[in-house]
Amino acid sequence: MASNRKYYTFIVEHLDPELEEWQALEYKAIAQESKDAGSIFLLSGLHSAKDVERQLSLPAANLTEASVESLYRDSARQRVCLLDPKAEKDLSPDDGELFDVFLFGGILGDDPPRDRTGELRKLGFEGRRLGSEQMTTDTAARVARIVVLDNKRLEGIPYVDRPDIEFSSAADPEPEANPTESVSMPFRYVKGDDGKPVMPTGMIELLASDADKGILDLL
Ligand code: SAM
Repeated sequence: MASNRKYYTFIVEHLDPELEEWQALEYKAIAQESKDAGSIFLLSGLHSAKDVERQLSLPAANLTEASVESLYRDSARQRVCLLDPKAEKDLSPDDGELFDVFLFGGILGDDPPRDRTGELRKLGFEGRRLGSEQMTTDTAARVARIVVLDNKRLEGIPYVDRPDIEFSSAADPEPEANPTESVSMPFRYVKGDDGKPVMPTGMIELLASDADKGILDLL
């Protein structure tokens, strides 16, 4: 039986030592989209919630230095679903009945994946997979929301896999003098109404400004 609930808590446990610019854009996108869906967003495990409050301009209520391990103990942990690329079961709309909280790893998307989600798995959270392709954290949150709030099955969601993102590489006033560069993103994205991968506001500009670094240094 599909869920009739109208809100959940979406938690990203920040597992990296720093908070990079690309990550800030992803977290802001998850915060905004959770709010728009009437759900709660929490970024946990921060080194300094005050610093991140300044960097992200998010309300303090969305940020905590507490770890998800300390926030959900004993029986409360059973209501938390870890989105885990190595889980045996895929997330389905019925999971909206089983869980109140959806938990994501705030970590580097690496290719091939290094399984850092395992740091959360070992804490004993029940896991669900979002299919076999690696997603960015904001995409994983977007897809989980579509499944549990819109009651859509994973296979009914349109995706773009491993897109090449194109942008002008030079700020020449003559457009024809601007060569187009492209960068390959080794992830699965939700396909937007315009047919393009849905990405956080500002991500394309960030990719363009960092094109010379190579995508895996950036992500
Ligand atoms: N390479 C990472 C690893 O080593 O685990 C995956 C990082 S992914 C960029 C960030 C988070 O998005 C994961 O911790 C997980 O919560 C979620 N995620 C991404 N793709 C997923 C998938 N196919 N199934 C379930 N969760 C996924």
